[in-house]
Amino acid sequence: MKFTHEREFSYNRSYRGPIRAVIFDWAGTTMDFGCMAPAVVFQKVYEKAGVPISMEEARGPMGAHKKVHIGLIAQIPSVRRRWVETHGSEPRDEDVDKMFADFVPLQEACLSNYSALIPGTLEVVAECRKRGYKIGSTSGYLPGMLAINLADAEKQGYVPDATYGAGDVARGRPFGHMVLRNILKLDVSPVQSVVKIDDTLTGIEEGLNAGGWAVGLAISGNEVGVSLKEWNAFSREVKQAHRDRIYPTMYQRGAHYVIDSIADLMPVLDDIEERLRRGEKP
Ligand SMILES: [Mg+2]
Repeated sequence: MKFTHEREFSYNRSYRGPIRAVIFDWAGTTMDFGCMAPAVVFQKVYEKAGVPISMEEARGPMGAHKKVHIGLIAQIPSVRRRWVETHGSEPRDEDVDKMFADFVPLQEACLSNYSALIPGTLEVVAECRKRGYKIGSTSGYLPGMLAINLADAEKQGYVPDATYGAGDVARGRPFGHMVLRNILKLDVSPVQSVVKIDDTLTGIEEGLNAGGWAVGLAISGNEVGVSLKEWNAFSREVKQAHRDRIYPTMYQRGAHYVIDSIADLMPVLDDIEERLRRGEKP
């Protein structure tokens, strides 16, 4: 019997090289434990508009472009109802524009109060560089806000090789465009060699939509939404209850791995290297 190779077999190529780049989110991932800065300001602009919102309502859409985020808060049924009670009409696009105009200067004014690097960031970045990985970054922040973050990070010793924010692309998260711009700037290939790390669900999707690996950070960011000091004061039971809620949520969104914070990243990268060697794809 003779095989006719062209018709009876298909041939699949698989990438077996190393990780080439890691792409970090900003707030809640490398700086601002608890992702506090934007949440506080969303509350301020809604208060100014006459419709105070809870911290939970403020945090729901985190990771999106900040103007999109303001609009998404207005669509939360409880907020919408209170808006109609206060203003006698549904929230309109002009209302979102107005709140966004208020948001930008308020956010820029307080950003540096929340810019301490998250513990582990410097060590992990140094180890990644030792291995030859490029360091990229993405954010839902706009260029003026990112400039503040970048300057504050540099003072603490963190300087990524590339940074793209929601203002730099036509489509922010959950689209993969910011990650793809990083890939081009960092000059790495293929997408299977890239790992995205993020504290939000939409930021996990961003990494997956770009075609790479995605790692969710359950504790240091938006999903718990408390400062490092508050987190450290929680009992073991409370901490575990947060993990029991957030880990499955992130895995169900498609994260390949979920860990507490950036400090736990290196064993995950070791595992991805091993899977790539075996020919696995994200
Ligand atoms: Mg974040």
